[in-house]
Amino acid sequence: MSDKPEHIVIVGAGAAGLMAARELARAGRRVTILEARERCGGRIHPLPASQFGYAADGGAEFVHGEAPVTRGLVREANLSLQDIEGTQWSFDGTRLSREDRDDPHEAELHAALNALKDDIPVAEFLRRHFAGGEYARMRRSIERMVEGYDAADPERASTLALREEWMDGGHATQGRVVGGYGALIEFLAAECRRHGVAIRFGCVVSAIEEAGGAIAVRCAGGDVHGCDRVILTVPLPLLREIALPRGAREKAAAADNIGFGNVIKILLRFQRPWWRDRRGYLADMTFLLSDETIPVWWTQRPSEHPVLTGWFGGPRTAELSTLDPQALVDAGLDSLATVFGLSREDIARDVVASAATNWAHDPFARGAYSWATPQTREAQGILARADGPVLFSGEALYRGADMGTVEAALASGLETAGIILRG
Ligand SMILES: Cc1cc2nc3c(=O)[nH]c(=O)nc-3n(C[C@H](O)[C@H](O)[C@H](O)COP(=O)(O)OP(=O)(O)OC[C@H]3O[C@@H](n4cnc5c(N)ncnc54)[C@H](O)[C@@H]3O)c2cc1C
Repeated sequence: MSDKPEHIVIVGAGAAGLMAARELARAGRRVTILEARERCGGRIHPLPASQFGYAADGGAEFVHGEAPVTRGLVREANLSLQDIEGTQWSFDGTRLSREDRDDPHEAELHAALNALKDDIPVAEFLRRHFAGGEYARMRRSIERMVEGYDAADPERASTLALREEWMDGGHATQGRVVGGYGALIEFLAAECRRHGVAIRFGCVVSAIEEAGGAIAVRCAGGDVHGCDRVILTVPLPLLREIALPRGAREKAAAADNIGFGNVIKILLRFQRPWWRDRRGYLADMTFLLSDETIPVWWTQRPSEHPVLTGWFGGPRTAELSTLDPQALVDAGLDSLATVFGLSREDIARDVVASAATNWAHDPFARGAYSWATPQTREAQGILARADGPVLFSGEALYRGADMGTVEAALASGLETAGIILRG
């Protein structure tokens, strides 16, 4: 038997890939990461501080809930978290008001959720239990949450997953990494290199082949990397584009039962925080919800940066698929103009930097993050089976309550490395 260390190729230098790589390299494995982009981080995408005045995030931004792996890493990296503080507002088409979180039917909702035994899609759950006109506001707010927050389709999204997410008080605390998620990725990438991990950029993996116990990983440019085992951490839509050995291909088919949603994110930096100057009562505004084309906006509270971030998630983002980044910025300005009763020009005059990404157009993400259908837990079980030389990892494989997050990706990477090391 060879005494050479096992060579593991990890496809993708996002949170999951880097986390798995560090664990494996620390335990003495030889690790190579092949990354399609020219940077680490994947769906963590720092924007230049020179443009926005701080390390803004074009992808993941918030740390949701307890997130133990993320918080552990933040401490290890000597970084810190800042909790979000402030008030939430909404615009009903006529006026702005403080968002009233309590719905008179909340107790009924909780009772119906608790009584649910078999999983059904959220839309069906609402039709079954809350079809009456008196529930219209609650239905709208749940659909808005499922589409906007989870980027999911209510006709397919799992009610049990939603129950887990809500009942755990998952959204109770939200914070940001001071210095942005990019600082965490920098730390992880440095750790990987310190432990001897080779990170190769610009390698778009197109095929994984298996012959006589040896594995060959092929990149679009013609490079071939031989190894003993592969961990695939690419986002679900990219999985379908990589040719896999038969056993792995059969497992990968289970991914069809995991939802994958899209997000459009827009950042606008202004000369001054005009929303506060014009309306003092919005001084500590965090989130602002509306039914405009770009329906959700938030500030950097408690930080003072004069930046508004627009967010549109879920299946209806397809309606804006023909818009380029400038057209998305214009759509964002129009939405803000309507909410604040101003003209687009009034607001545009103050813009000093902008960035807009429709994540469905990103060639190495093809969307934003995964969400659970009633069949997802079973699909994740199939994908996570370590019964061959190709393993799957990444946010979509995470079986906890906060699927589709950075925490999910880090925890999944850690779990996959653990499976190999316990081997
Ligand atoms: C707009 C947006 C906002 C978000 N907001 C939040 C948030 O506030 N909080 C939160 O916790 N999460 C958020 N998320 C989700 C979070 O970013 C992801 O869940 C997490 O970063 C996924 O990490 P990953 O390692 O699983 O995948 P990725 O980060 O996608 O890493 C996979 C890597 O594989 C690479 N790759 C793809 N195809 C190939 C190929 N063929 N060959 C080689 N490499 C390839 C990709 O370039 C990428 O670097 C957000 C995501 C988006 C898009």
